[in-house]
Amino acid sequence: MHAVLTGDADLARESPTESVSYFVDQVDGTRSEPLPGTTAVVACWGDTAAVERDPTRAAVSVDGTRATPDAEGHHWGTVCPTDEAYRGQLLDRIATVGANGDVRLTTVGFPGHEFCHCERCDDQFAASDHHDRAGWRASVLTDFVADTADRVGGDLSVTLYPDPYPGASRARTGLDPAALEPHVDEFVVPLCGNYETPYWVETLARGFGTELSGLDTSISVQLSVDGTDVDRLHDVTRMVEPHCDRIVYGTFPEDVDTVEAVLDRQRANDAVVQAYGRMRARNP
Ligand SMILES: [Zn+2]
Repeated sequence: MHAVLTGDADLARESPTESVSYFVDQVDGTRSEPLPGTTAVVACWGDTAAVERDPTRAAVSVDGTRATPDAEGHHWGTVCPTDEAYRGQLLDRIATVGANGDVRLTTVGFPGHEFCHCERCDDQFAASDHHDRAGWRASVLTDFVADTADRVGGDLSVTLYPDPYPGASRARTGLDPAALEPHVDEFVVPLCGNYETPYWVETLARGFGTELSGLDTSISVQLSVDGTDVDRLHDVTRMVEPHCDRIVYGTFPEDVDTVEAVLDRQRANDAVVQAYGRMRARNP
């Protein structure tokens, strides 16, 4: 299975893939109307516009760093996940775009293991039953994802941070795949780059395949198309395929020819494999 991920409505309508994921809420704060028949991709706490309007809403680390685009290691602003007003608006938005279809959540979670130490988070952790902060953070995120699942008519996908080391997702973002399993249909792992040296893509895909293998959820790997030629993207696709159920190509309109060429090669390979299988069946 293959999908295209895009923010371009024309490409979303004319994609050469079986399924399409379409950005309706992006991390810069851009909003678009959902397109019927596509998965609505919603940036959750990644919202630079909201943080620029009110910097005090940004998650804050133990040393006082705010999760804003100009902070080292942050490419967008991230609202604190215990901001109740923001959480309520986010759930309403997910209910609107997901009433009749599939939804994929991105930037869902705390923006790093050192977040969030705002006064509200400190108070909520102190008042909780949890003895360790990581457990409390995971409970915040599991409750949120469970609430989104109640509002989505189709399948719910959750994007994970691309670190398959056991326990890393929970420690980094608060997303605990095992705890989320009852609410989630699919985990999506973005492995984006230019793939000049692609061994790491196979390594990470294999790691996620192993780490999530005991869960009753499907796995998608997201690859980026921009800056990668057909030969290389085809190679990377073949490296990743054994470890996931679906490949999602992050695609700009000018890259769609590359995706089509890779899919053509896949179909040609599949035809050769099937012909060989038929020949072996006739001549065992
Ligand atoms: Zn906070």
